[in-house]
Amino acid sequence: MKRLFWGGLHPADRKSLSSSAQLDTDFQPKAVAIPMQQHIGAPCTPLVQVGDTVKMGQKVGDGQGLCVPVHASVSGKVIAIEPRRHPSGRDILSVVIENDGLDTPDTTLVPHPDYAKLDTDTLLAIIREAGVVGHGGAAFPSNMKALTNLGKIDTLIVNACECEPYITADDILLRTSPAEVLEGIRIVAQLLTPTRTVLAVEDNKQEAIAILREKLSGAKDMELLVLPTRYPQGAEKQLIQAVTGRQVPSGQLPSAVHCAVFNAATYYAVYRAVCLGKAVTERIVTVTGEAVRSPRNVLCRIGTSYQELIDAAGGLTEDVWKVVCGGPMMGFAQENLETVTIKGTNSVLCLAQFRNQEKENPICIRCGRCVQVCPMHLQPLYLYRYRNNPAELKRYHVLDCMECGCCAYTCPGKLPLVETIRQGKSKVREAAGK
Ligand code: SF4
Ligand code: SF4
Repeated sequence: MKRLFWGGLHPADRKSLSSSAQLDTDFQPKAVAIPMQQHIGAPCTPLVQVGDTVKMGQKVGDGQGLCVPVHASVSGKVIAIEPRRHPSGRDILSVVIENDGLDTPDTTLVPHPDYAKLDTDTLLAIIREAGVVGHGGAAFPSNMKALTNLGKIDTLIVNACECEPYITADDILLRTSPAEVLEGIRIVAQLLTPTRTVLAVEDNKQEAIAILREKLSGAKDMELLVLPTRYPQGAEKQLIQAVTGRQVPSGQLPSAVHCAVFNAATYYAVYRAVCLGKAVTERIVTVTGEAVRSPRNVLCRIGTSYQELIDAAGGLTEDVWKVVCGGPMMGFAQENLETVTIKGTNSVLCLAQFRNQEKENPICIRCGRCVQVCPMHLQPLYLYRYRNNPAELKRYHVLDCMECGCCAYTCPGKLPLVETIRQGKSKVREAAGK
């Protein structure tokens, strides 16, 4: 198969489990818990008190520096401000709102369908006030990402690869709201003034590709690039290489090679913020896996508990093994279902027992397969071998690992490579701190 970046693999994608079901737009949670930390950077401070009545879209938390506000995703009454379980596994201070089911809208943010007349500072301020962050998982504040790329890039890339198995949230977004995503891309292009704008999609999304081809027919300001399906093509550095042939040097950002990459759902959030005056209060979440009865995509309010979301998809089957935030390759297993969705949550994956391939005494047979698939040119077997030696881990560039999971997926010895490497990275950082 044609490869546009080093390493990687093509796992069974299992996307048909959720991609054929209609997008569920009617789901309403009974209550939401809005975490004050949903982005990389400083946490927000609550702006409301217990007993307050809030409107949908009202700002309920904000802060200084690298920080964007968070908003009520339903209208109703604030019933608690307390730590609640976050997908990171930590308990994070959250504003808990009982949903009155009325969706009474807050009108502080105003629509700007004539955005072409707006200057850069105004556009960036609108994107910040709406709380837009990267929707692909990293959750970096989008206004800051745009600001730091001003005048530095020639290529703007739309990441619509969605290369993780099982997840179809971006696929269904492109199929249901293509015009809105394209408008969001044009807003970001107005800010960053690239000479080339590329919408990159993998070739396992044929319905979305057909729709986008029609929408972009005759368009001169952007191109649709259909890439052969390969994991982890949606990772920033691999996608840049696949689209431009440029390699981002170790430890550097895409701007080092004059590129900026935003996820398709982030562009949609930018469109809603600028053209509709709407804050980030909802996103599409794929609820899927062999251990959920009725897999589907749900238009989900931020702050919904996994339990309510899974119940909306028919509930768990008896043979559930684990529930994961994200995909099977890079996701995080959750301890309980009180965890709530945040802006970066694209999937709640419910895996059945037959997927459990953990071994009691895993051993390395030195087959070298992990080296062949590592897209970062690392040697995972040595990252495992020297797991308790920070100096050796550093020598083998452990900090370059992006935790894509290719090595663990391909390892015949079933070594817990990713978990061990994650712990190894912490040890190297701790040692550096000392
Ligand atoms: S793939 Fe697994 S068994 Fe093979 S060399 Fe790598 S760690 Fe060892
Ligand atoms: S070492 Fe890290 S980057 Fe390389 S395959 Fe394993 S998880 Fe991916």
